Amino acid sequence: MALINLLDFDLDGLAAYCEGLGEKRFRATQLFRWIHQKGAADFGAMTDLAKSLRDKLAGVAEVRPLPVAAEQASADGTIKWLFDVGGGNAVEAVFIPEDDRGTLCVSSQAGCAVGCRFCSTGHQGFSRNLTTGEILAQLWYAEHHLRARLKLAPGERAITNVVMMGMGEPLQNYGALVPALKVMLDDHGYGLSRRRVTVSTSGVVPMMDRLREDCPVALAVSLHAPNDALRDDLVPLNKKYPLAELMAACMRYLEAAPRDFITFEYCMLDGVNDSDEHARQLLALVHGRGEHRVPCKLNLIPFNPFPESGLLRSPRARVLAFAKILQDAGIVTTVRKTRGDDIDAACGQLAGEVQDRTRAAERMKRLPVRVVAAPADARHKPH
Ligand code: SAH
Ligand code: SF4
Repeated sequence: MALINLLDFDLDGLAAYCEGLGEKRFRATQLFRWIHQKGAADFGAMTDLAKSLRDKLAGVAEVRPLPVAAEQASADGTIKWLFDVGGGNAVEAVFIPEDDRGTLCVSSQAGCAVGCRFCSTGHQGFSRNLTTGEILAQLWYAEHHLRARLKLAPGERAITNVVMMGMGEPLQNYGALVPALKVMLDDHGYGLSRRRVTVSTSGVVPMMDRLREDCPVALAVSLHAPNDALRDDLVPLNKKYPLAELMAACMRYLEAAPRDFITFEYCMLDGVNDSDEHARQLLALVHGRGEHRVPCKLNLIPFNPFPESGLLRSPRARVLAFAKILQDAGIVTTVRKTRGDDIDAACGQLAGEVQDRTRAAERMKRLPVRVVAAPADARHKPH
């Protein structure tokens, strides 16, 4: 019989499981703390846990890590891990250290079915959803591995922020996502505040509404285009949930958290979505009409090129001119620094290894490619 993976449970789930074994909730809390706060996988090492519970767990349950298939460390401190999720699939997680924080970028699926033109994961197609345990195994491993590697003092955390911006569309794996988020937020788990856990979505409108009810963490919305015609082309999900619906869903999301804001992500593609006119359209979109103004920040992402995309990064001067139009209109606009570029760990470069069950790669090849060549200066290095 397959062992139960205890990483699959949030605290309520673990309490229910332990209850089934005839154990009280406080025992489940102890077990949960051993797993997530102390990084223990061996029941024998959980010294203050009743021997009776340890004996019951042995042979029926386990804390199942993901095998690390590869690790790459960048000169800037960024670390990328490739985790083997079986069946020829692998997913990636990236640790990005900064002065005042440590961010882990976590994957939610092996591949992605949305198929955005500018995204390396999208070009790979979709293989399968990760389980809650596989989502959490990335955080569990990274946190406890880094504490030892960085020689952190007891009680010190390596990871202060989690962003669901690795491979996959988290809101297309909703059932597994929510318990994982709950463990991240739980004081007995990773104890991260709601604002330090970000779900990034290409705009799965009904699931944005559910997330607002179930677990209203910080929300990033991948916009990438200011009108439906262009967004249909870049983010195919737009055909199902066009911009007007997406913006209305953003407003509803913020009703649950009035002091929050949405982070709009916008990947700057040379000659595709980066003109002054696009900036003005974007402004009109987020400003809406009067009371429909969406409280937001805008994050411009320099496109991380990969050959199959046929797309190029907007020149730095273009990005700054685009940003200025928005800043002058009072929108907080930042240009994302690319990190871990030497190890292909930046946004949208995560490819892992995926058995494409959707034949996305073939479909993408048939797509008309608009931009095939650009002046040499558009191929400059990250800023
Ligand atoms: N599926 C989710 C989360 C994963 S992608 C989403 O789309 O939001 C995380 C972020 O990386 C998204 O904003 C995505 O649009 C961006 N991205 C994808 N490919 C990129 C690329 N090649 N260069 C820069 N950013 C990219
Ligand atoms: Fe999927 Fe996000 Fe990549 Fe689009 S950008 S293909 S939604 S992972």
